[in-house]
Amino acid sequence: MKKRIAILGSTGSIGTQALAVIQQQCERFEVTVLTAHSNADLLIRQALQYRPKAVVIGDEKEYRQVKEALSAYSIDVTTGATAVEQIVELDVIDTVLTAIVGSAGLAPTVRAIRAKKNIALANKETLVVAGALITQLVKEHNVALYPIDSEHSAIFQCLVGENPTTVEKILLTGSGGPFRGKTQSELATVTPQQALKHPTWEMGRKITIDSASLMNKGLEVIEARWLFEVDFNRIEVVIHPQSIIHSMVQFTDGSIKAQMGLPDMKLPIQYALTYPERLHTSFPRLTFDQYNQLTFEKPDTQTFRNLALAYHAGEKGGNCPCILNAANEIAVSAFLDNRIGFLQMSDLIEKCINTIAFNRNPSMEDLLATDLETRQFAIHYLKHFNTTSL
Ligand code: NDP
Ligand code: MG
Repeated sequence: MKKRIAILGSTGSIGTQALAVIQQQCERFEVTVLTAHSNADLLIRQALQYRPKAVVIGDEKEYRQVKEALSAYSIDVTTGATAVEQIVELDVIDTVLTAIVGSAGLAPTVRAIRAKKNIALANKETLVVAGALITQLVKEHNVALYPIDSEHSAIFQCLVGENPTTVEKILLTGSGGPFRGKTQSELATVTPQQALKHPTWEMGRKITIDSASLMNKGLEVIEARWLFEVDFNRIEVVIHPQSIIHSMVQFTDGSIKAQMGLPDMKLPIQYALTYPERLHTSFPRLTFDQYNQLTFEKPDTQTFRNLALAYHAGEKGGNCPCILNAANEIAVSAFLDNRIGFLQMSDLIEKCINTIAFNRNPSMEDLLATDLETRQFAIHYLKHFNTTSL
């Protein structure tokens, strides 16, 4: 029996790479559901190639085009945000691969877990916003949650065959992004175009900005805390500009295991879909004569304040990581639109954390309310920034 996969966010960077993996392993996998937000043209091409049972186009303006293009095929076409949530419950799905960007991925992931689907998780914001509730739901419904994020896949691979109680520390690596080594005054004037040039990974726009500001590493620290049930004081970020070691685990006997490879998301995507098996791939291999120098540094959290803010939010817990995430989504979008400068992203996030009411034990409904309230406040507060120098 082929494993039947739903890809939420199939038109994005992770979504398209997931389809490439599935195409190479087509005797094992079948795509049964695809969803996109507004990229109707690509969704139609993907549907014609992979012939899923159903597709969802989030943006209602694009519905007619997708419906007409697929009318000759037995592919169900629906639209709207709630359609993305409903589609994950279909019987024809075994695993839901969540590659939507931002907290929009949360509601469909919750529905998928409740419908007893296994989750291959790229959408890290889901665990940042609602890590406690998601991990509890995963246990209650007895489903598997496999990480796609390269660092978390690396940690997951290092932990295979190990006793979780022997983990001393997680060493989460990160490239440091395009602005590693820059000072605050240099960062004040960097442009979105400069921030979008990542030195080692090609990704969607939001995560590329998060990587430049080190917020991505901060979100990943919170993601790791929930995936591996390790306290924040045992998760250490290590800057490793070559992106060859994807992360490490230190054990109680002092031994450190690392997972290495060339930076290519197709490997962690495939591992999340095939675990516990490893399948042969023809991906280029790492050779040590090409990478004969691997270097490591401490992160500069004075300059890149987002990483410090994320640790703070994670340690505080409750709805604080949800506030951090929602504020960051608004900050990134405002930076990309040239409405605020690079450093002002941290100012906006800090302002939101200090303003929105803290809730120590939020329900899912409370978190959705915090997400909305933070976005509204952040959009309103953007007016206070002086952007004449941008
Ligand atoms: P992209 O921006 O490339 O793709 C996002 C996908 O989500 C697209 O299919 C987009 O549709 C869809 N989408 C956007 N907004 C919404 C919405 N409101 N509702 C429903 N669907 C929506 O992002 P990435 O692929 O880079 O990232 C996806 C997730 O994976 C993120 O959470 C990111 O942090 C994580 N991740 C990504 C990595 C990477 O290498 N790219 C690495 C590790 C994690 P459309 O195209 O129609 O707009
Ligand atoms: Mg990552």
